[in-house]
Amino acid sequence: MDKTINNKPKIKYSVRLKFVTTFFAFIALLLILLNTYPLMVSRDLVFTSKQKTLQSQAMVISSSLSALETLTVGDVEKVMELLDIMPLTRVIVTDNTGKVLYDTSNVDTAVGRYALFSEISRALSGDVVFFSRFADGAFMSRTAMPVVSHSTIIGSIYLYEYDKQQGEIIIGIQSRLGSISFVVSALSLLLVLFLTNALTRRITEIVRAVRIVSEGEYSYRMPVKGNDELAELSWEFNALTDRLENTEELRRRFVSDASHELKTPLAAIRLLGDSIVQSDNMDEDTMREFVADIGNEAERLRRITEKLLALTRLDEGKQAERSAVDVKKVVESTMHLLAPLAEKWNVKLEKNLSDNCFIYAAEDDIYQVVFNLAENGIKYNLPGGTVRILLYTAEDKVFLIVDDTGIGIPEEDRPYVFSRFYRVDKARSREAGGSGLGLSIVHDAVRFHGGTVEIQSREAGGTRFRVCFPLYKPGEEQEK
Ligand code: ADP
Repeated sequence: MDKTINNKPKIKYSVRLKFVTTFFAFIALLLILLNTYPLMVSRDLVFTSKQKTLQSQAMVISSSLSALETLTVGDVEKVMELLDIMPLTRVIVTDNTGKVLYDTSNVDTAVGRYALFSEISRALSGDVVFFSRFADGAFMSRTAMPVVSHSTIIGSIYLYEYDKQQGEIIIGIQSRLGSISFVVSALSLLLVLFLTNALTRRITEIVRAVRIVSEGEYSYRMPVKGNDELAELSWEFNALTDRLENTEELRRRFVSDASHELKTPLAAIRLLGDSIVQSDNMDEDTMREFVADIGNEAERLRRITEKLLALTRLDEGKQAERSAVDVKKVVESTMHLLAPLAEKWNVKLEKNLSDNCFIYAAEDDIYQVVFNLAENGIKYNLPGGTVRILLYTAEDKVFLIVDDTGIGIPEEDRPYVFSRFYRVDKARSREAGGSGLGLSIVHDAVRFHGGTVEIQSREAGGTRFRVCFPLYKPGEEQEK
């Protein structure tokens, strides 16, 4: 049998490596999200709240100043003193030319100078401007808006806030998320290493077991641990090894039995040959007798090898050409063939065969079944006995009954008679030219065609074999 076995793959990326890298890529992605998304959201929330508060403050100042016709340093200072606004880093008020009238900066007051902030020039052209950014752990927000009186821009307001407190909260969250991420990564690494270790250790055990068994130690069994898929795999492996061990045992026994069977006639031929060669003046009759014996032994060898070949063919499951076989015809021609043997053993052959007993099978296999059963019925009969063959259909089955009035098969031997080389009475089997393979062929051929064979007890003594085949349905060959 030709089987192509692919080259054994070299392990380049182990399951553990694949598992760890995939897991880590996933964890890294998760941690990146955890470390960026909440921060982005909270920063945006702070930006929005800053915009709201700064602009509402600017509105308060702007509406208070818009009561004035024109803005002067003194007027603006007065209004600003009266206003109750939140503490801001810097508040600037300019007139409509951009000249600073009021500035809360105590580091570098710009009063009297022209403000160069772009926000102020945009506010003077009528825009409301807001910018906020988060840098160096602080929120820096600025807003500017025009001061409008009677639909004319009379100045602008600029507010600036440097908020370290909110920044610190964000930095705190950031560092806490960082620590959590570190702990999560470390724990995940430990967990994934532990899990993959446990997994690969068990896979390695299975691979080792497969190797041991493939090297020929069929008695090796794996310990089945746990109740997961790997435990199931170990169990299936053990079941497979059981079957392998049985098959191997059967094969070994078959080879040894077959050699033994072949050895006996070969030894007899050798002995008879030697006797002829070594005796100087052997009379012609003895010589003839010896040569005839050699012929008989050679015939026995032929029978054994033929049966061995039939069994091997059935073992391999090779499909011989199938057709609708008329079992009645097969039985009749077999009985015709066996008539001389029946006469020799003084056994009567009887038949009761129905028509239309067709089965879809290889004719030669059916012939083997009928021949071996009928031949056994004759060989293991008593002088004056009978072999009766019945053939009939019932429901969608064909029944073949081979009934004899012979020596019978003891109850305790019945489970074994279909085994190869099993004989109940060795001496009688040999004397009758048996090989111990006939019933094995019957069994395998019947099973090969989807049938069953069983031994039934006979009240009157003797043996009854009942074979059952599925009845042929016209058109069945197209289905196969
Ligand atoms: P063999 O070639 O020895 O006949 P078989 O496989 O045909 O081998 O049968 C196995 C054994 O079963 C025989 O050796 C014989 O002891 C027993 N046997 C088979 N058929 C019968 C039968 N009809 N009556 C009694 N014994 C039988």
